[in-house]
Amino acid sequence: MTNADVSTGDLARAGFADRFGRSPLGVWSAPGRVNLIGEHTDYNEGFVFPFAIDRRTVVALGERSDRAIRVASTFAPESVEIAIDDLTPGAVDGWAAYPLGVVWALGASGADLASVRGVDLFIDSDVPVGAGLSSSAAIECAVALALDEHWALGLDRPALASVGQLAENRVVGAPTGIMDQSASLLGEADAGVFLDCRSRDAEVVDLGFAAAGLSVLVIDTHVSHEHATGGYAARRASCEAGAAALGVPSLRDVDPGDLPRAAELLDDETFRRVRHVVTENRRVLDTVRSLREHGPASIGALLEASHASMRDDFEISVPELDLAVATAVDAGAVGARMTGGGFGGAAIALVADDLVETTSGAVRAAFAAAGFREPTIFTVAPSQGARRDG
Ligand code: ADP
Ligand code: MG
Repeated sequence: MTNADVSTGDLARAGFADRFGRSPLGVWSAPGRVNLIGEHTDYNEGFVFPFAIDRRTVVALGERSDRAIRVASTFAPESVEIAIDDLTPGAVDGWAAYPLGVVWALGASGADLASVRGVDLFIDSDVPVGAGLSSSAAIECAVALALDEHWALGLDRPALASVGQLAENRVVGAPTGIMDQSASLLGEADAGVFLDCRSRDAEVVDLGFAAAGLSVLVIDTHVSHEHATGGYAARRASCEAGAAALGVPSLRDVDPGDLPRAAELLDDETFRRVRHVVTENRRVLDTVRSLREHGPASIGALLEASHASMRDDFEISVPELDLAVATAVDAGAVGARMTGGGFGGAAIALVADDLVETTSGAVRAAFAAAGFREPTIFTVAPSQGARRDG
């Protein structure tokens, strides 16, 4: 694990040489992401607004003379090898399902792999795993871009995002949306990726955090609840039930002005689930507009309203996340909210550069006083998406 982009590529090259006994042909990387706002809106065909971060997964690639793919990683002792023609969902599992799943998904998406030669891939990363920063999309997107360029497949970035999603859905078996891969492939320095999950239209929007002297703190609570998977499925089911009762294809089609009618038609719990999604979609649009018109210092109230909606209406927060958000705001953060699917994970806080230390200290002290496990706190900067590094 390293921090600087530059040395990460060197580690991947060295790791490749060490495992495979020769130098790689090239090195590609893709970042993790943070979702600034727009939670549980993706599967309701709504809006999300993530950004790529300055933590990257690097893949070093070398060609083989046969048609096998071999993958190795700094954090896996064994390499995994399989012939391209034997790749099917179910043929691979564990961490190797991410990179090998991408190879399968390229073929399943129509890329002609009939005459390509196999490759060796070595993967190194400084994206923390399981902290809600999408190390999974980072590995998928780095591999997808590397193979697209090496095999000259000619896929554009939105197509590569779909390939990553297909790998994750079908080979890894996680029912995730298109947000993470879109952020990882389309992100730019100090910008966010405003994504319409219905049309898949994506727009890169300046965040202006650096110019405004603002940092994004990630507060990883290390809380993970066993009921997260069940809770996620239950929220999706509530959203589908709400849309069906309101006679619309998805909650994307419900406006805030429709909520009084929804309150009459739906039971209280379903109504609150619906209200979260409907108001969250509006908050994403308002965040993009507010950034453009008034700059980043203006979005704090939207971040806090998003958190309150997830806590009270969607009921996916936990005491640790609520405390992190409240403490960061009390310490002077522009705004803060939990980020990710909920039931644990991380909160983000938008903080003036000179308040980063005091805000982090206040959150740590509050966690200690509450008897909570010490959080891991670090800053992330909106950064460039997937690229060739050498
Ligand atoms: P996250 O929120 O970080 O995306 P996931 O559970 O979706 O968490 O994906 C994490 C998984 O992705 C890891 O458990 C591992 O299987 C795989 N992975 C991520 N980064 C790497 C890496 N550098 N090398 C090997 N596997 C990785
Ligand atoms: Mg993931």
